[in-house]
Amino acid sequence: MAIKQASTKEKVRANFTVPDYYKNFICKGGDCRDSCCVGWKVTIPMDQYFLLHGLSCNKKVKEKIDRTFRPILQGTPEKYAEIVHTMDGDCPLHKLDGYCLLHETCGEEVLPWVCRYYPRGPRIDYAHEASCANSCEKTLELLFEKEDKLTFETKELSFLMTKPAKLPDQEHKNLYHKTRTEIFTILTNRDYLLYERIIHLGRYLKAIETNIDVKYGDLDLIINEHDESVDESYQILWELLDDFNGRYKRLSEQLDEAKSFYLLKDVNATYKQARDKFDQTIVKHEIWFEKMLINDLFFKQFPFQNNFQISDQYLALCGTYVLLRYISINLMYDKSTLEDFIDITSKSFTVISHSEFDKLLASLMKRYNLHVSDNLAKIMQF
Ligand code: SF4
Repeated sequence: MAIKQASTKEKVRANFTVPDYYKNFICKGGDCRDSCCVGWKVTIPMDQYFLLHGLSCNKKVKEKIDRTFRPILQGTPEKYAEIVHTMDGDCPLHKLDGYCLLHETCGEEVLPWVCRYYPRGPRIDYAHEASCANSCEKTLELLFEKEDKLTFETKELSFLMTKPAKLPDQEHKNLYHKTRTEIFTILTNRDYLLYERIIHLGRYLKAIETNIDVKYGDLDLIINEHDESVDESYQILWELLDDFNGRYKRLSEQLDEAKSFYLLKDVNATYKQARDKFDQTIVKHEIWFEKMLINDLFFKQFPFQNNFQISDQYLALCGTYVLLRYISINLMYDKSTLEDFIDITSKSFTVISHSEFDKLLASLMKRYNLHVSDNLAKIMQF
């Protein structure tokens, strides 16, 4: 029997707004093709680290637990220790049958928060909301089960959480609801192509800077078509993406593979070939990208992310869409199934949804002048 220390988190039980797939989520365990226990950089806060070190349980298991979590040099209370992976990148506590040794031996209550709830992301500040991250293949499988727009419902849930020191006032909570409802209406209007909807969203966000009551119907929805200049667009994209290289291992692997596709080849012809193949293979990609983006925006509380300007959050959204398309079009060239597409995009989201990727991407896009609306519209269309 494990002896547990008190955690600084409190139990929150309430009605949460959740996406329609949420109720069906069950971890795939040993059937997962890219388990979150393998190769992911996982950090835990200081209180959880000491909770694990204070555990009293089977001596052999305890030794393994102690060796699994290691304090980070210059760690912070929130990111205090990390998992030390085995030689093949697995969590030492991840059993061959896919289950967790820590969970099995000491119970769910002692699991680090990230292991206990992943891929769920509960929020309790602007609203009680919970959703699952796109980085988990099961989330994408559930999202892609039907073509309908993502809808939301209410579900009673409980989580152990640190309550925010200060909650937004009612006026800001109302604004949060109103803005996000309008954003999801714009992004799901399938009368327009997805890139057009994203440009409309940019206009809406700009308009509410001066008039919070602006409605979707008040916006100018006309978008000028740009000449397709693949060489030029790819040159900009490559320069931008080269700046990412080495920063995020899992993303770098994908970017290197995508770029190598063009080595010593005619960029225009190669791109068109890959894009045609992608259109034929993943016929509903517009719908899948729409659902992934909306799920990610809901998960991140867009455009109310902390310490991140709305205009920069929007830039990061545009960049994310371009990046996901670029990686998917090129990496799908020699693949053919929806499962392959899920494996590629869920891997990209391990960086997109769980790092400072958004902030870095927004700042790099400004450096390459991609915040200028004409340049942005151009790169979005290709
Ligand atoms: S990635 Fe998702 S399905 Fe796979 S092991 Fe993790 S939580 Fe389970």
